[in-house]
Formats: sequence, structure tokens, C-alpha cells
Amino acid sequence: MEHLSSTTNRFVNAMYRQRDPELSSLAIGDCEDSELAYTMRDLPPRAGQTFPGSEMPMTNREPDGSTHPHTPGTPTFTRPLSRSLEPELVRRGQLSSMSSLDSPMSPSRAKSPWGRFDPYDSAEDQDKEYVGFATLPNQVHRKSVKKGFAFTLMVAGESGLGKSTLVNSLFLTDLYKDRKMLNAEERISQTVEITKHTVPIEEKGVKLRLTIVDTPGFGDAVNNTECWRAVEDYIDQQFEQYFRDESGLNRKNIQDNRVHCCLYFISPFGHGLRPMDVEFMKTLHEKVNIVPVLAKADSLTPEEVRKMKMKICEEIERFDINIYQFPECDSDEDEEIKLQHQELKDSIPFAVIGCNVQAESQGRRFRGRQYPWGVVEVENPEHSDFLKLRNMLVRTHMQDLKDVTRETHYENYRAQCIQNMTHMVVRERKRSLCKDLPVPLVPVDSNTERLIWEKDEELRRMQEVLERIQEQMRHGH
Ligand code: GDP
Repeated sequence: MEHLSSTTNRFVNAMYRQRDPELSSLAIGDCEDSELAYTMRDLPPRAGQTFPGSEMPMTNREPDGSTHPHTPGTPTFTRPLSRSLEPELVRRGQLSSMSSLDSPMSPSRAKSPWGRFDPYDSAEDQDKEYVGFATLPNQVHRKSVKKGFAFTLMVAGESGLGKSTLVNSLFLTDLYKDRKMLNAEERISQTVEITKHTVPIEEKGVKLRLTIVDTPGFGDAVNNTECWRAVEDYIDQQFEQYFRDESGLNRKNIQDNRVHCCLYFISPFGHGLRPMDVEFMKTLHEKVNIVPVLAKADSLTPEEVRKMKMKICEEIERFDINIYQFPECDSDEDEEIKLQHQELKDSIPFAVIGCNVQAESQGRRFRGRQYPWGVVEVENPEHSDFLKLRNMLVRTHMQDLKDVTRETHYENYRAQCIQNMTHMVVRERKRSLCKDLPVPLVPVDSNTERLIWEKDEELRRMQEVLERIQEQMRHGH
């Protein structure tokens, strides 16, 4: 199997060389694609073992470079050495004949490192020759699982609308153990605070670092003018931090604290949106994915819920608020998926009910709110959109929310930042040219001159950052 591994890597290298001689320097070792070949080295479970990421049985290499004892029977893929290639070895015929040493199925095929998850595993594929790139998604999957995921969810809306209850219900955790409730007197002077809780969650071997950002005090004051300001500042600060980290030296281990989604809670007791809701959403819709939810839906009848949803949607349109848009389904998508997608779109704003205690009815236990006249079940689609919201957030659209944050909201922030920096640098350069002032090389005693020197230093640093960013953009990073 060592033999197969190095042959395969030689083949990948040779592919690069054939495509473009210049690319040969990128082959295995220092290009992004090479990571895929690189991943192969610490892979494979034996055939029949579960897929990497569910119960990963093996990792040959620790982050510090040390190695685990090798699981008996597990093929070892070593990192390829870069050495001169022998082109005649990499022809497909030879590859397949060399890789057929211990195939149990067919003399022309090697045992797959992906076991039953190999896309070439079907009976009709057994005798076919193949290069193997249909396993690329498996490799990407494995890498992502190994790295883990991070997601930041913000909840905003007036206090008492059930935000903390809903978050706990959504993720089945108790994120608000240490919450301190303020009394009415304390709340008069309270400003909007931002609190952050991070919990590592693990499910079937997949790790998620979930961060919940809450906004206690929002809408609680006597005068709520600009109470969205603290939220806006927080979102900007996360973008700024990311921008700094990205422009710094160590870009490999950047922690992404950008807010990927904001659940905005709308009161069920009013007549649609209140001015504060409109202000909040209009101010933040270009910075974060806003998902509106109709809170405490159990306090409305089904007909009232329907009317309230209609009213809120009308107002969102009338005030030109851009809430998070679900991506369009592909035309060749399954009918069932298209239907689910449409249902999700029609559910906006999600009418939710939160509850963290179990109720019992007719011998059945479930999470629900017990009233003298009956029980509302949190996860019953007839009673609320709780399940739709959870599925959307976790199962179907978490990645899209992150993508929109990165590709749209953060990109806007970044472009604005670069533009501002460029203007500033140009202005300052012009100013110093006009004055024809020599730039002092060392700080001098006079206060003004020291300030000018500091400013110049700052500009120089900014220009360096700018140049680095432009360089990265030129190379398509
Ligand atoms: P927050 O201040 O927005 O975080 O609100 P809380 O989660 O602390 O909830 C405030 C109160 O509303 C608590 O007494 C909850 O039990 C109650 N509550 C939470 N969710 C619901 C709901 O969906 N329906 C009803 N009727 N009450 C709820």
C-alpha cells in the first residue's frame, strides 16, 4: 500500500507537470490542491469501517507532527517526498496495474481507502479503471470534520419575548445559567449590553463551536432611540478583528467570531412591526443575516398567526428591509426538496414557541407548555414553526448563512475599509508633499513633531497592510 500511495502521488505530480510546467513547483507540498493529496496520508479506515468523521478510528498524525501507533491492517499513506518524477510510471495503465496488488474485488483495483463510502464501490464499477477524483468530496468532508465548525448566532429583541428559552430549546443546552435579572429600577438606567456564551457541542463526532450573542437591555429603556447602536458596533468590531487577523502574519488559525445570523424577535402583542423593529432591521440588514421570528406564538390563534405573519411580511417589503433570503433551488432539484424549500420561504417570520420543560399527555412525554385548557407542543408543526427554524439553522442553511456572511456582509465591510484606508493614505501623502516637509526619521522632542512622526508611522503601517492585501487579491486569495 505504501507503494500505491507513492505511485498515486507521483501521478498527481505528473498531472500538474503535464498541465503546465510552471505548476510543477506547486505539485504536492505547497499548493492548495496538494492538501487533498496530503490528506490521503493520514486517512483511511479499513473497508467496512465507518466513514471518517462519524467514528473516526484513526489519525496517524498529530498536529505537533508526532505519530500514533499504526492500527494493524490499516494502510499507511506517507507524505510524498518531492523528488524527480519518472513520467513513464504515471501512465494510467501502469497506475492501475501497480495499484492492483491487494484488491479483494478485482485484479485491476486496489482496496479503497474509503471503504463503503467509495463512490466507485458499485458492482458495475469494479472492473473499470479510474483515477479517483470522485473521492474529492470525501476528502473535503474528512478535513472539515477534523477541523470542526464554528457558528455565531445573535438573538435580539425586547426582553421577555422568550429569547433565552428559545435558544436553550434549539440547542438543548442551558446557556443562561448565570443570568441576572434586573429589577424595574435598575432597568431605567440600563443600556444595551452585549453578552456572549460559547459552548462546544459534539454530535456523532462532528464538533461545533456555537456562540450565542445576546443583547440584554435592548428596547427596555424609557427612551429607546438608537438602541441598536451597541449591536451595530459589536458586529463591526467582529468584522474589524477578522480584517486585522486576515492581514496579519499568522492567517492559518484565525478564529471566526463574525455574526452569521441574527434572530430578531417580534412581539406577538402588537399590530405588526413597531418603529424600533423597523429601525433595527433597516440599520443592520446590510451587516448581518436577519431572520425574523414571531415570538410566543402560543399566545395567538392560528388565524391570528397567519394574519400577523402577512402583516409583518408586507411591512418588511414596504420598508425595504432585506432579511436573509434563502438561496434559490436548482431547477433539477428533487420535487420534495423544492416543496420543503417553498414551505420554508412561506413560513417567514417563523412563529415560535420555546419551552425547556417536559410535559406529559396521553402517556407521551414531550417539550411543551401546559395550560389549564391543554398543552402546546414545541416540536409539533401544527403548533409552531420551531422545527422548521431549527432545521433551517442547523441542518439545511447553516453553511449558507456563513457563506453569505463571508461573501456579502464581510466583503462589503472589507471593501469599505480598504477604500477608506486608500483615501486616507492618498490625502496624507498629498498633504506632506504640498508642505514639502522632510519626514523626521526619529522622534523629536517637540510634541507636534512627535505626533506627526507617529501619524506617519501609522500611515506607513497602513500602506504596508494595503500592499499586502492588494498582493493577496492579485494572487486570488
Ligand atoms: P428573554 O428575556 O427574551 O430571554 O425571555 P425569556 O426566555 O427569559 O422568557 C421570558 C418569559 O416568557 C419566561 O417566563 C418564559 O417561560 C416565557 N416564555 C418563553 N418562551 C415562551 C413562549 O414561547 N410562549 C409563552 N407563552 N411564554 C414563553
